[in-house]
Amino acid sequence: MTRPLAIISGAGVAGLAAAWWLDRAGWRTLSIERAEHLRGNGYMLGLSGLGYETACRMGIHDRLAAEAYEINENVYLDSRGREILRLRYRDFLKGLPYLAVRRTTLVKALQDVLPASATLRFSRQIAGFVDHGASVTVTLDNGEELACDLLIGADGARSALRRQLFGPDGTCLQPLGYYFAVYDLEAPKEFDTDFVSYAEPGHLAEYYSLNDGRLAAMHVWRDAAPGLEQQTDKAGLLATVCAQSHPKVRHLTDQLRVSGARPVIDSLTMIDLPRWSSGRVMLLGDAAHCLTLVSGQGAGMALASAEMLAEALAGSASVEEALARHEARLRPVTTRLQARSRKMAAVFIPQSRFAFHLRNIVMRNMPRSWLGHYFTRSLRSEIELARGNG
Ligand SMILES: Cc1cc2nc3c(=O)[nH]c(=O)nc-3n(C[C@H](O)[C@H](O)[C@H](O)COP(=O)(O)OP(=O)(O)OC[C@H]3O[C@@H](n4cnc5c(N)ncnc54)[C@H](O)[C@@H]3O)c2cc1C
Repeated sequence: MTRPLAIISGAGVAGLAAAWWLDRAGWRTLSIERAEHLRGNGYMLGLSGLGYETACRMGIHDRLAAEAYEINENVYLDSRGREILRLRYRDFLKGLPYLAVRRTTLVKALQDVLPASATLRFSRQIAGFVDHGASVTVTLDNGEELACDLLIGADGARSALRRQLFGPDGTCLQPLGYYFAVYDLEAPKEFDTDFVSYAEPGHLAEYYSLNDGRLAAMHVWRDAAPGLEQQTDKAGLLATVCAQSHPKVRHLTDQLRVSGARPVIDSLTMIDLPRWSSGRVMLLGDAAHCLTLVSGQGAGMALASAEMLAEALAGSASVEEALARHEARLRPVTTRLQARSRKMAAVFIPQSRFAFHLRNIVMRNMPRSWLGHYFTRSLRSEIELARGNG
């Protein structure tokens, strides 16, 4: 009997993981990726909880661990260079499994374990589809028509398939009122800390030391104005954001400008949809429920969601039933993570001077064991929730 076919729009974390897990459930997959090759945004991401467990079950743990970054501590400095806080990861994680890898590394590891039943096509997009009930006809942007049993939109937070399925984004896009920028640059000689954060009211600049003498930089700042991500002079925008920052931050931003590199800038926008599927068409990963970087769980949930989808498909009488079961299992976890991210965003980047100083006093005086306890308890509760014990 021929295996059923799923067409997946997007070959990012969710799409590639789905191709792997659907093979396990007896499916073939065809991934349609807009980019010319697998995108490798170099930002650093932490894998823990459900996503970490899924990565282990996929057999990619050792590969990720070999390329992971050991973070000993994260030092927080204010705009005058005074130490606000020092977080030792060992105290904070309390032995909880955690990997800090670059997105590039995760995507490459997922690509390298793709099964023979998975086909990837680059530089293509889905122009439209028709769900006939018993199958779906997909039309690619070159006019080619393909039939499949399931269509998955794993094309990220700005998903085109989501708009084709449910219409204009409208209220499902929920900007949190922050922007982020990510880029790499050559590390200055004096930069010898693992992970340093320069914090000021309304703005946080973080730098991870990479193994190749470079820095992975990330900025998050508060700005409720829409559309900043459309600006063409991205380095110039960042220089404006950093105008009052610590001289080192300004120096690094100048360095970025001189290098001509273009940072990736986008708003922190959650995706909140009343449902993730219709008929035989579904959304997966950020396309369905973008949690934003504040949750620190987006990639992990994309991996876990792909695994849960395969389990639901293997254990259901129909595709529609599987999609309903998948959503019923995953939604409580994503709802909890989104609610926490909304609350945490204001703690992560306090806007006013008063809130900033208050946050710092609390963080400085809070026993480290409380922070660690909060973090580990949150991760464990999400694992239990996904197991149906929450
Ligand atoms: C700065 C930053 C830090 C983060 N930190 C963490 C962290 O610490 N831990 C964590 O777990 N998560 C983190 N995340 C979140 C995580 O990166 C995302 O949740 C995760 O990448 C989502 O995977 P995805 O496959 O759904 O989407 P993506 O990874 O965005 O992949 C979407 C894919 O679809 C393709 N595509 C887009 N449009 C189309 C189209 N029309 N047709 C075909 N293909 C298309 C894209 O090229 C891409 O390959 C962070 C995110 C950012 C930005």
